[in-house]
Order: sequence, then C-alpha cells, then structure tokens
Amino acid sequence: MANQNSKDKKKNKKLVLYLIAVLILIAAIVGLIIFQGQKEKEKEVTYDQLYQDIIDKKVEKIEMTIGSSTVTIKYKDSDDEKTTNVNSLQPFAEFVNSQLENNPELKVDYKTPNKFMTFLENLFSFLPTILLVVLIIMIFKMQGIGEKSKVYGENEENNTGVKFKDVAGLDEEKNELVEIVEFLKNPKKFQNMGAKIPKGILLYGKPGTGKTLIAKAIAGEANVPFISMSGSEFIEMFAGLGASRVRKLFEKAKKIAPCIVFIDEIDAIGSRRTSNSGAESENNQTLNQLLVEMDGFESNETIIVLAATNRPEMLDKALLRPGRFDRQVTIPAPDLVGREEILKLYVKNKKLASDVDLKEIAGDTAGFTGAELSNLLNEAAILATRNQHKVIEKSDIEAAIKKITVGLEKHNRVVSEKDKKLTAYHEAGHAVVSKFLETQDNVKEVSIIPRGLAGGYTMYKTNEDKYYISKTELEEKLVALLGGRAAEKIALNDISTGASNDIEVATGIARDMITVYGMSSSLGPISLKVDEPYELQIFGENITDEVGVQVKQLVDEAYIKAQKLLLDHIEILHNVAQCLLEKETISEQEFNEFFEK
Ligand code: ADP
Ligand code: ZN
Repeated sequence: MANQNSKDKKKNKKLVLYLIAVLILIAAIVGLIIFQGQKEKEKEVTYDQLYQDIIDKKVEKIEMTIGSSTVTIKYKDSDDEKTTNVNSLQPFAEFVNSQLENNPELKVDYKTPNKFMTFLENLFSFLPTILLVVLIIMIFKMQGIGEKSKVYGENEENNTGVKFKDVAGLDEEKNELVEIVEFLKNPKKFQNMGAKIPKGILLYGKPGTGKTLIAKAIAGEANVPFISMSGSEFIEMFAGLGASRVRKLFEKAKKIAPCIVFIDEIDAIGSRRTSNSGAESENNQTLNQLLVEMDGFESNETIIVLAATNRPEMLDKALLRPGRFDRQVTIPAPDLVGREEILKLYVKNKKLASDVDLKEIAGDTAGFTGAELSNLLNEAAILATRNQHKVIEKSDIEAAIKKITVGLEKHNRVVSEKDKKLTAYHEAGHAVVSKFLETQDNVKEVSIIPRGLAGGYTMYKTNEDKYYISKTELEEKLVALLGGRAAEKIALNDISTGASNDIEVATGIARDMITVYGMSSSLGPISLKVDEPYELQIFGENITDEVGVQVKQLVDEAYIKAQKLLLDHIEILHNVAQCLLEKETISEQEFNEFFEK
C-alpha cells in the first residue's frame, strides 16, 4: 500500500511540474505578444500628434516615400524611428514645406520607392500591354509571319526512323516505291544514265491505310529528312498565306535536299480550280504556287514530293501533268493476308493467350485499315487490363472488334419496353431476311443492347474480301437493309425512325447501282454520276426523272421482297424477336436453331 502511495505522489509531483512548465510557456508567449504590440504602438505616432510635434520643433527628420502614405519620423529626443500614416502624402508634404521656413533645421528626405516594388508596380500597370504584345506575336508566329525558317504546321524530321519493315502488307506498293529510295540515295547514278528522277508521287487511299507511314519509310530507308505539312493547314486563316507557306516550304526543302516533302490531304489545296471568288481564289493561289514550285526545282535537286489524298477525283488535273504528280500509287485497305501481317506486327509487344488466332481475327475484320487494326489491339489490351486478365484473351479481342464496329455497349441506357419490342422486331427482321438471301453474309450475332447511336445491332460474319459485287448481291443487300423496317410494319403495324440509317444506306446503294454501275436495264451502262444536275441534260430532258424512277423501283421492290420473306416465315420472326426480348443477345448458333425446326 505504502509503496503504491509513494508512487502516486511521485506521479502527481511530475504532473504539477509539467503544468507549471506549460503555464510559464503560455505566460511567456502572451507576454511576448503584448510586449511586441506595445513596441509597435510605441513606434507609431498619430497624425495629429505628429503635426503638433513638427510645429513644436521636436522632430529632427522626416522621410517620405513617393507614392506611399507612410512617413518615417526621427525625433530629436529619441534614437528610434517612428512611423505615421498620413492619409494622403501631398497635403502633408505641403504642410512640411510650410514649416521649413521657421524651422530650417528640419531635415526632409524624399525617397524614391524600393526598386523591386517599383518594378512590380510597373509590371502590373504594363501587364495588359505586355499581354497584348505577346498575343500579337503568337498570332504572327501561327501565321508564319515574322519567322525565319519554320513554317507553322510544318513538321520536320531529320530521320523518321521508319523502315519498310514497319509497313506491313502492301508488298506491291513497297516494291513500286523502293525505286524512289534508290533515287534519293544515289541520284548521280540515275542522272548519269540520263534518267529523270520523278518529282511527285500521289498516294491514293482511305485515311489510316498507311500513306504517311509509307512516306516516312521512304525517307527512313533513304536516310533523308522528311518535311511534312497538311493541305488543310495551307489554307487556314488569313488570305494569301497559303501561297507564301508553299513557297517557304520549298525554300526550306531546297536547302536541305535531298529530302522528302510530304503533303497530306492535298485535295484541300489541289481541288479543281473553278470560279475566282473569295476562298476559292485563295485556294487557287495556293495551288498555283504549288504548281510553280513543282515546275521550278530541277530534278537534280532531289526533292521528292509525296502527296496523299482519299479523294483523287477532286484533284485539279493540272497537278497530275508530267513533271508534277505524274506517278500515282493506290494504297488499298489491307486484304486478308495484309490484315494478318499488320496484326502480327502489332502483337509483337503484347501478351496474347494461346487461343488467339490472328488469322481468324483477320477474317473478322474485313474493311479495317492498318490504323484501325492497331487501334483494335490497343483496345483489346485495355479491355484485358480492365477485366484483370493476365494476357489478352480471345474474348477481349472480340469485344474490342464489337466496340469498334458498333460502338460502345451501353448497359445503363434506360430503354422502355415499347422501344425494346420495336428494336427486337427490327433486328430480328434484318437477321431473318438475311438468312433467306443467298448472297448475304451469315448472321454472327443479333442484339437489342444499345450501342453507340443504334438501339440494337445485327452483326454479320464477313470472312471474304470482295473486289466485285454482283447486281443480285446488291439487290439482296437492299432487301436485308429494309428487313428491319419491314418487320416493324408487319409485326407492330407501325413504323419508326429507327430505320432511318438503313433507308439512307439502301437509297445510296440503289442510286449508285443506277448512276455509277450502270445496272439499270432501261438506262443501260452509262455513268450518270455528275456534280451538277444540268450535266445530265446531254442525255435528254427526262433523264433525271428516269434516274429517280429507277432508284425508287429498286428500293420499292426490295421492300416488298423483305415483307414477303417475313410473312412467309412469320413464326420464325416472332420467335427470334421473343428470344431477343428475353435474352437481349442471340449467338450465331442459337439463331440458326430457329431454322432447324
Ligand atoms: P494515312 O496517312 O493513310 O491516313 P497513316 O500512315 O497515318 O495513315 O496510318 C496511321 C497509323 O496506322 C500508322 O501510324 C500505323 O500505326 C498504322 N498503320 C496503317 N497502315 C499500316 C500498315 N500497312 N502497316 C503497319 N501499320 C499501319
Ligand atoms: Zn436496321
């Protein structure tokens, strides 16, 4: 017990000591604060007091800072300097002046403000001007004015580092272009033979087919600089700049030759010169400058101009004359083998599950460009990560294909029962009709899960690359497209806006059948595709009417055929639609089972 007691006492003592220490500390702090405050106060003199003190000649010296209302005062009887806030310096200074007459001992000092403060103040007052100047400089830079060597929008690479092996597929095209590499590497050899080195090569092809890539590969293989610019950048903003940019681009090319100049989207400047008004004539100036430049450099300067477009029909014919873009190379979307090769190239740095078959993926991606295939594998890798897979699995790739082809699956979009039913019949209509059309692709999946803008989708299996499409095939395509609308009409006795895209596509196909492919028996194999309707006049007054009649007939017949097919198999239509309402998505196998009964 005693032991316990003494321990407690010790503890208490300690606690008291602590308390005292803390109290002393607090007191010290409070004291310090009060003392400081006192000191500050001591240093300050009121305005009225100061007036009186000056009049009483107690003040030895006054210091005023221009632009500040705080005055520093030294009293005769003290070493400390004190301060006073005079509301406004001017009247105070006048007052001090008036006192100098009868108090010549009073020292008055005018100080210019602190340099750094002055600088800051000036900076602030000049800020708007500075900003304006910076803005103007930026605009000029963007316009390429006031700059010596760099043209806005231009891109220069000393060595692209791209080689032909980085361009998959496109073997024939590469073979055609290998020669250019030789020219660039060894121009003398060709010149000694008396051979003219080509100046311009036009690459035709859809976006993403690898035109830029192949142009870079030529530069990379030849180890020459690559200057590039996009046609749309030539014609932006201020008039007259396009032409000057073209000139500058070539000035630079001549300096660093041998080199490659790459002009992307050349159709933006090189489209047919027509009228001479406004933007058009601006365009013409740019194009004319380009033609001048192309004609101007000698072939011994070894500048090779590569240009890319996906609208060759838009180009001004003058661009294609000898000595300009007299060589044309078409860069097609990759075929089955090409797609597999591109996929092989892009899986190199990715981990794939063993069940992934690139040949199969190539088969499922007819129409994909190189850019889309590379994007596809990237999407698959993202999905695999999100799904916490260790490697990219087949399912990830399939999901990525779907995502790219039909847009993102939207589970959380609320769909009313009525909309669901409509979509179910619409999609079932497409699918069922297709099953009875010999030339049409097999159905791979039908779904009423919304994706992108579509309420549902029917996916087809496209394993074959087609170069030619027959008339029957196009006619049946129309039937398949209109199957959705036909099913809505038959099953619900009402039609919806959901078929608008189908109708647009179908009408477009029908029009091309008549005007481009010459598939109409009454009009014959004549190309009726024109820019202006009056151009059709050479075929007689009624030609436009006849085109309309023929197009309408094709679409009408297809719509009737779709309805007939569905009426003949109405039970299957109901079954598929019902199944879609229950399961939302039907696989190929499940779909085919409806037809086995
Ligand atoms: P374009 O200039 O025809 O629009 P790009 O050359 O810019 O197309 O292609 C975009 C991207 O697509 C390339 O950077 C490359 O990653 C990929 N790509 C396209 N085609 C191929 C191909 N044949 N081989 C390898 N990659 C390709
Ligand atoms: Zn549809």
